[in-house]
Amino acid sequence: MVTIEGSYGQRKNVMALKKTSGVSKVSKSQLKPGLTLLSTPIGTARDVTLRTLDALGSADVIACEDTRMARRLMDMHGISINGRPLIAYHEHNAAQITPRLLRHISDGECVVYVSDAGTPMIADPGYRLAQEVIKAGRGLSATPGPCAAVMALTLSGLPSDRFTFGGFTPNKKTQRQSFLQSFTGMAGTLIFYESPRRLAASLEDMLTVFGDRPAAVARELSKTFEEVRRGPLSSHIIYYEQSGAPKGEVVVLIGPSERIAPTQDMLDHALRTALETLSVKDAARSVSDELGLPKKQVYERALALK
Ligand code: SAM
Repeated sequence: MVTIEGSYGQRKNVMALKKTSGVSKVSKSQLKPGLTLLSTPIGTARDVTLRTLDALGSADVIACEDTRMARRLMDMHGISINGRPLIAYHEHNAAQITPRLLRHISDGECVVYVSDAGTPMIADPGYRLAQEVIKAGRGLSATPGPCAAVMALTLSGLPSDRFTFGGFTPNKKTQRQSFLQSFTGMAGTLIFYESPRRLAASLEDMLTVFGDRPAAVARELSKTFEEVRRGPLSSHIIYYEQSGAPKGEVVVLIGPSERIAPTQDMLDHALRTALETLSVKDAARSVSDELGLPKKQVYERALALK
């Protein structure tokens, strides 16, 4: 194990970095005064970026969701606290701690914030603090890094050109179903965080609300037992009915419904049926919505059939 020590920026803090990342040299921190949100690993410790380690080593103040988790992360990478304030900031004490952190920032200090895992503000604290920093006209920056939603999307095999992150689904069935309803009209892939305990119930509700769309369940990402299962929603329900609730952390992704491209026969059949009761214009509109075909094309065909 190689230990490197170095001072960072204008500050006196010293960072000792074990050779965890296969590098023998660390760059000087580019930390700016203000708040920097740091992304941390969601599984494998080595997924931390060098810039995040630099920032942890050189910040004047380290704010974190849980001080034990932050210490663990820093210990793992050989970064010492060196007498710097380590301040817990989470949803229960945000109102009380925000002014204290803002005071450090107003004094020109560099404050970093780490949540327990992944990217702060993504189903994690940080939003209110970031808002207050923006409101106060102070600097806000971030080190990009691991995020379960993005990694799950990357591995899901589902369309990634457009996606919606829904966060955690509600605990209770009725609330969960109406929450899911609000996503029905959305294009692209839907991403939800889920607890393994209620995975089976949520998948059932998703099938009820969305129909049997293509889906993926991503589990224990970047950890030893990483697993991504892909298939229609119903296949996941059958699988987890048999295997029971999985262990670990889970992301559920639902792709857009796969419409079968309608054939000419399907179009003609739908139009003939519609024309029995509707005008050409209304029949064309209704069939175009039903089959997802351009209105002009359907209208012209309806005229020809009439
Ligand atoms: N801030 C984190 C991020 O950037 O992804 C999310 C934190 S949220 C409190 C925790 C939830 O994220 C878990 O319940 C799970 O749904 C998802 N998650 C986090 N790490 C994961 C992993 N390694 N594999 C699968 N899902 C994970």
